Amino acid sequence: MAAEKGADNKTTDVNHDVLKSTQTIIHEALERLGYPEEVYELLKEPLRMLTVKIPVKMDDGSTKVFTGYRAQHNDAVGPTKGGVRFHPDVTENEVKALSIWMTLKCGIVNLPYGGGKGGIICDPRKMSFRELENLSRGYVRAISQIVGPTKDIPAPDVFTNSQIMAWMMDEYSRIDEFNSPGFITGKPLVLGGSHGRESATAKGVTICIREAAKKRGIKLEGARVVIQGFGNAGSFLAKFMHDAGAKVIGISDAYGGLYDEEGLDIDYLLDRRDSFGTVTTLFKNTISNKELLELDCDILVPAAIENQITEENANNIKAKIVVEAANGPTTLEATEILTNRGILLVPDVLASSGGVTVSYFEWVQNNQGYYWTEEEVEEKLEKVLVNSFNTVYQTAQSRRVNMRLAAYMIGVRRVAEASRFRGWI
Ligand code: GLU
Repeated sequence: MAAEKGADNKTTDVNHDVLKSTQTIIHEALERLGYPEEVYELLKEPLRMLTVKIPVKMDDGSTKVFTGYRAQHNDAVGPTKGGVRFHPDVTENEVKALSIWMTLKCGIVNLPYGGGKGGIICDPRKMSFRELENLSRGYVRAISQIVGPTKDIPAPDVFTNSQIMAWMMDEYSRIDEFNSPGFITGKPLVLGGSHGRESATAKGVTICIREAAKKRGIKLEGARVVIQGFGNAGSFLAKFMHDAGAKVIGISDAYGGLYDEEGLDIDYLLDRRDSFGTVTTLFKNTISNKELLELDCDILVPAAIENQITEENANNIKAKIVVEAANGPTTLEATEILTNRGILLVPDVLASSGGVTVSYFEWVQNNQGYYWTEEEVEEKLEKVLVNSFNTVYQTAQSRRVNMRLAAYMIGVRRVAEASRFRGWI
C-alpha cells in the first residue's frame, strides 16, 4: 500500500524555522486584514499540544518507548483535522507548524474543520508489520481522550497509509465500544474509506497545475515536468501528468533522482517503486535531489518534505511554475526570490488541499452511512479546487501579494471570524 507522500532527504533540523516562518506569514496576513494583535496571539501556536510516550513490544522481545505528538491548532470552526506522520525527524515544532497549515487548508477549501496534526518519531522502514501495528494502536490509546469523530480526526501523512488508518480505527472503535469509521480518514474502502482518497492529493495538485498553466499560457500537452518525491502525492501525480500528455523528465525519492529529457517511463517506475516510494536505488545513473530541483523544465513540483527550495538554490530554479505538493517545501526567503523572478508559485496550503478535501467527503459519507461513486467524489473535488485556486489567484492579483500570502489571508480569516463570534477574542 502506498505511503502518503514520501521522500525524505532532510539532513538538518530546520523545523524551528518552519514554525517561525509560518508565524511570520500569519502575522502579515492578519495585519493586512486589519485584525488586532490578540488574534495573532491566539493563532500563532496550537490551542492544545499533547506529547505522549508509547511503549511498543518489538519483535526481538525488547520494549522500545516511542515519542508521539498531537497538535490541535484551533477548533473554533469545527473539529480539528489532519494527518499523522511517522518519521525519524518529527519534532514538536514541525507538528505545530503542520497543524497551523491544516487550519489554513481547511479555511481555503472551506471545510467545517480546524487544523490538527500528529507525528511519531520512528522509522517505519526499519519496523516490521507487527511492530507498526503495535505502535499505531499504542498511539491511539495514548491520544484517545482528545480525539474522536466530533473532536479531532486523524488521517494519513508521510509514511502512514490506509493499513495504519485501519489499525487506528479498530483501536479507537474498541475503546469507544462502537464501530467508529468517522474517527479517522484515509481508510481502506471496505472499512468505510472513500473512493478517490488515495489519489486525492495528487488530483488536487493536478487541478492546480492545470489552472496555473492556463494563467501562464503553458500547454500541459508536451510540458516538461519535474517531480521531487515518489510517495503518495508524487507517484500519482507523475501518472496524472503523463496521462495529460505532459513529459515527466525528472522524478526523485529519498535516495536520488532520475532524469531523461525525452520523458521517463512512468508506468515502469510506478510498477517498481516500493511502498515507501523508493525506486531510484534500482538505477545506476542517478542525479542528486539538488540537481533535480535545478533541471530546466516548465513545471516543478516539490512533493517530498520541508525546506527543499531555499535561498541557496532559488536563483537556480528554471521552472516557470512551481506547485507545492509537499507541506512547506519552499522557505520564506525562497518564496520572495521566486516571486521576484516572475515564477508563479502555487503554495502548499492550496495545492495540497485535495487530500483533506476528500478526507472530509469520507467523513461525511461515514456520518450519513451512504457512499458515493468515484465520479461523484471527483466532480466535487474538481469544483472545490478550481474555485479555491481562482479565489486565491484573484486575491493575489487584487491585493498585489504573492499567492502564498493571499492563501494565508483567505485561510486565516475564517478561523479568526469564528473565534470572534464565539467570544474568544
Ligand atoms: N496529511 C494530509 C495533509 O497534509 C491530509 C490530511 C487529512 O486528510 O486530514 O493535508
